[in-house]
Amino acid sequence: MRDHPPSIDRITGFLDRSSCLRAVNERLAAGAPKHPLLCALWLDVDRFLQINESFGHQAGDEVITRVAERIRMTICRDDCLLARVGSDEFVAVFRVPDRAAAERIGRALLLAIEQPLRIDELLIHPSVSIGIALLQAHDDAQSLLERADQAMIEAKRQGGARLSVAGSDCAPARHGLHLARAELAIEADLHTALENGGLVLDFQPVVTLDGRIEAVEGLMRCHAHGRLLMPGRFIPVAEKTGLIVRLGEWSLLQGARFAARLRDAQHPTKVAINVSRAQLTSPGFIAALHGALICANIDPALLELEITESLAMEVAEVVQDNLRRAREAGVGLSIDDFGTGYSSLSSLKDLPATKLKLDRSFFHLLPDDRRAFAVVRSVAQLGRELGMVVVAEGIETQAQYDAVEAAGIEAIQGFLIARPMSEEALLDWLNQRREA
Ligand code: C2E
Ligand code: MG
Ligand code: MG
Repeated sequence: MRDHPPSIDRITGFLDRSSCLRAVNERLAAGAPKHPLLCALWLDVDRFLQINESFGHQAGDEVITRVAERIRMTICRDDCLLARVGSDEFVAVFRVPDRAAAERIGRALLLAIEQPLRIDELLIHPSVSIGIALLQAHDDAQSLLERADQAMIEAKRQGGARLSVAGSDCAPARHGLHLARAELAIEADLHTALENGGLVLDFQPVVTLDGRIEAVEGLMRCHAHGRLLMPGRFIPVAEKTGLIVRLGEWSLLQGARFAARLRDAQHPTKVAINVSRAQLTSPGFIAALHGALICANIDPALLELEITESLAMEVAEVVQDNLRRAREAGVGLSIDDFGTGYSSLSSLKDLPATKLKLDRSFFHLLPDDRRAFAVVRSVAQLGRELGMVVVAEGIETQAQYDAVEAAGIEAIQGFLIARPMSEEALLDWLNQRREA
């Protein structure tokens, strides 16, 4: 076989993607001893697309160079193989005595990279998500890297700026590659949809048990290349690639416009829009929110933001600041999927929220499970006493409805009442209800 000279990435001086896989293969082929362990770290800069778009490609390249420097200085080992494997993705492969040592280095990297970066006049606060995989008996170079990549995706999924270690159970080596391809296809679909009008919001009503429309929730769908993608598939990809900020701005504007349309059709109703972490950590969030309100010319009280409980509890100053300013603007704040995070009940009192949406996992167990019922009833009471509207999500059956009513919950959302539907269908639905 012919020897390839390793190809080097121009910006960082690291190996490039193709040389990376080859170099890891060579390390494995060199009959590596079992100890110390070989580990792979996959690092992905959070919100890089946003940095690139807001500050330009030159600033983007500068961020990449400086992050690469920090990686090199922090790992600081002669035997470390360093590669840049995507526009904002890095791989480091080296030996460690054990898993704890790999995690220590991962944490040191998080800290080092988090230091603010001054680029010309700008102060940028970078962060990365890191996935760690330790070599296992069945691993080849590809599967080791794929497991690290998967762990990185998990770190992103949990909100980024953290590390995640690939478990020993996450062995299916080809799965990662497959997923990576599927993700690229989804990313391409999202770009196409953004450009060609393939994004739509469907709306699902939230109704009070006494029959009023409490709100309608906007749920994003993506049509591209003849297929329909649901948010469960594309939101994680959008979050990973930073596209979520643009998608989020689009849905705020779309939601605000629909609120105006509902108002003009004599159905003044709050429109709820889901907001991701990447949006709330962006300093441009409030400008986008005001932009949507002004563009649609609506009373801010007609818009509600849905965020997860972990996001509501987030201590990062920029997040708290954005939430406070949204509330000050008069926009409602709703805690989505409550009960799936880790917050304690006592921290509910610290949330600046106007609405609490209890996750549908609570209601799977109703009406039979008395313990689940007791929890639902207590949370409903607590939420009410704290002045929040309490909503049960995912109500599908009359029996669940009855249990929810008995638990003292004020409003429900779910297939029993209505599925998410297009703007037109929702307006028809509202008109029919009014006539009934
Ligand atoms: P979510 O905000 O909790 O939205 C409710 C989800 O539950 C929707 O799924 C809805 O179709 C589904 N659902 C409603 N009633 C029932 C029911 O009775 N039974 C069952 N099994 N499901 C029900 P969908 O539309 O697939 O959205 C999934 C998630 O994607 C949303 O969960 C939200 O977290 C996210 N998402 C949707 N649109 C956006 C968006 O514009 N921006 C962001 N950041 N996230 C979004
Ligand atoms: Mg929601
Ligand atoms: Mg929800």
